[in-house]
Amino acid sequence: MNLSTPIEQLPHIGPFFQRKLKKLGIKTVHDLVYHFPHRYEDFSETTPISKISLTNDQTYCIQGKILEIGNNRTWKRKMTITQAIVQDKTGAIKVIWFNQPYLLKSLKPGDMVSLIGKVKYGKEAYLSSPAYEKISEKESLLFGRIIPVYPETEKVSSKWLRFIIRPVLAELKDIISDPIPKEIIKEFNLWPLSKAIYQVHFPDSLSSAKKAKERFSFENLFYIELVIFQQRMKMGALKSFPIPLNLKTIQRFVKSLPFKLTDPQKKSAWQILKDLEKSRPMNRLLEGDVGSGKTVVAAIAALNAAKAGFQTAFMAPTEVLAKQHFKTVWSLLKDYKLDLGIITGKEDKFFSKKLKSDSIEISRKKLIERAGEGKIDILIGTHALITGKMKFKNLALVIVDEQHRFGVEQRAKLQAQSTDKVPHLLSMTATPIPRTLALTIYGDLDLSLIDVLPKGRKDIITEVAYSKDRKKVYNFIRKEIKKGRQAFIICPRIESKEKEDSTWNDVKAVKKEHERLSKEIFPDLNVALLHGKIASKEKERIMNSFKNKKADILVSTSVIEVGVDIQNASVIIIEGAERFGLAQLHQFRGRVGRSKYQSYCFLFTTSDSSANQRLKALVNCQSGFKLAQKDLQIRGPGEFKGTRQWGIPDITMESLKDIPLIEKTRTAAKELLEKDPQLKTHPLLLEKVRKFQQKIHLE
Ligand code: ADP
Ligand code: MG
Repeated sequence: MNLSTPIEQLPHIGPFFQRKLKKLGIKTVHDLVYHFPHRYEDFSETTPISKISLTNDQTYCIQGKILEIGNNRTWKRKMTITQAIVQDKTGAIKVIWFNQPYLLKSLKPGDMVSLIGKVKYGKEAYLSSPAYEKISEKESLLFGRIIPVYPETEKVSSKWLRFIIRPVLAELKDIISDPIPKEIIKEFNLWPLSKAIYQVHFPDSLSSAKKAKERFSFENLFYIELVIFQQRMKMGALKSFPIPLNLKTIQRFVKSLPFKLTDPQKKSAWQILKDLEKSRPMNRLLEGDVGSGKTVVAAIAALNAAKAGFQTAFMAPTEVLAKQHFKTVWSLLKDYKLDLGIITGKEDKFFSKKLKSDSIEISRKKLIERAGEGKIDILIGTHALITGKMKFKNLALVIVDEQHRFGVEQRAKLQAQSTDKVPHLLSMTATPIPRTLALTIYGDLDLSLIDVLPKGRKDIITEVAYSKDRKKVYNFIRKEIKKGRQAFIICPRIESKEKEDSTWNDVKAVKKEHERLSKEIFPDLNVALLHGKIASKEKERIMNSFKNKKADILVSTSVIEVGVDIQNASVIIIEGAERFGLAQLHQFRGRVGRSKYQSYCFLFTTSDSSANQRLKALVNCQSGFKLAQKDLQIRGPGEFKGTRQWGIPDITMESLKDIPLIEKTRTAAKELLEKDPQLKTHPLLLEKVRKFQQKIHLE
């Protein structure tokens, strides 16, 4: 047996379990042993029953004998309750499980059990739905007292997985080799693979489990860093077009702007222009909060390139944004003799604008031809920019909006075949990512930050609100509308659930809420409705009518999250605010406060729980950067927009919070690659890194 052995060759795994395991993504021995527990039950320290204190919700582990056990059905709540009495030398306690009638099959009076669960107080104290383990089970003797709990699927229980995984690990022990070089294991005090993999499943203690997991976190981060450093080295060896800095033009342009650039805008523009002068390709990430003014910085770079006779491609993530950028860039650069074009995949309407002439509609074919002849200075578009037969004549700058990475391969696609040079890259992110994450994911990029908003923007007054505040808030909206302003109301869902069980009761469904608001609350006002299922033409019509102040209130789902710019709106209500992530809430809030008017954001919630940490963070903080850092602490990096789709394993996502660990892996990767850039002396590691690179798609 080795790691690539298919699971069907293992004992006890027939077609049935093959299918089930496939659901968990397990096809080989490797997948199986890398199916890590997501938590552990600690049966290692038990409390004598008489010592259980009267604090509600405290977790205890006890050991004793089942005196009696039986099922009851409660007719009112239609539930089965399994009740037992468990006794040890010091006393006895009641134990209750809910809706698990089958427990009676495995737990019998007289059985010795370990139980772990929370103590609750009803009429009397009881242990509520504890995890259990029969002490007589062989398993417990074999595994010690820390029991792994796995991500499960139907019929594949943690217990069954323990039974399958243990013998496999025993067999693997002497045959698996560690991809991490020995000197790194030593230098960073990591556990070698064979020990770590055993201990991650069957740890001697919770601290061993932690140490084992740490090794795997290190390993995965190490792969990411190796990929990134190799990329960086590859990039460093490439050549690009040096674009001379045309200071006069830039100064004239900056002077002509209707506003003064903020200091970080100036600094970023300067860093970019300096990079462009070099014959080494620029790799720069421009990070700035929503509304911080990244587009004008990008326009400066494009203008400078155009003045030197080079072409720029400007890629946006959606058609809407591509159009918006086109309008913005066109109006910013209207005083220059430049050719601009827009190309999107969906509509077959492509046009090029030439100075002092109206928009000229031309066919896509013609547009591509023009780009190939070098007759378009700045071409703005969606992914269509790189998917078509686009060949630029002298493309020297690529600007990518929104946080995707854009690697060597994509850039090569944009390049004329005749040259071996690659264009400079300016990547812009609208959603701020915490610095640690940026360093990891974008580790091969240089960073420019715009951490100050343009002058005159007012803080958005943000409040957490409960249902008792509804009337007050609605009256407030009414007042703002009287003053001429408009309001957004965001709801988490489109339809209301048919059966309104209690948890969903208060989650406002947009259609119903729209009806309620327009009929009962604001019958005299114009209340519009928007959600994702509305056809895109109709959506555009609704948005335009809101923009033209034909509607006072827009009730919407999260479809308005990005790209919507209604300067006249001064209030936003977010219903069920606890359901949204911090980054998303911050994006919503950014829909208001885009002009001189004082703006307000009301976060409606029904929960008093941990979600309120997020809401409070929002109330106290206006900066997307600070919020992103807080979000990272509260929820972990997995929630950041887009990070899911990078395909990075959860365990690595979790460790992206761990700054010292990230720094360690960076050091390790750098040291190793300096000695052995191709990883020639570490073939196993090379193979792992290659595989990892295929799996994650950082680009
Ligand atoms: P983002 O960084 O989110 O892409 P934009 O580039 O769309 O932000 O800029 C948001 C708005 O701020 C635009 O209307 C832009 O004209 C304006 N703006 C940009 N820079 C400044 C500045 N220094 N002072 C005032 N307004 C600015
Ligand atoms: Mg933008």
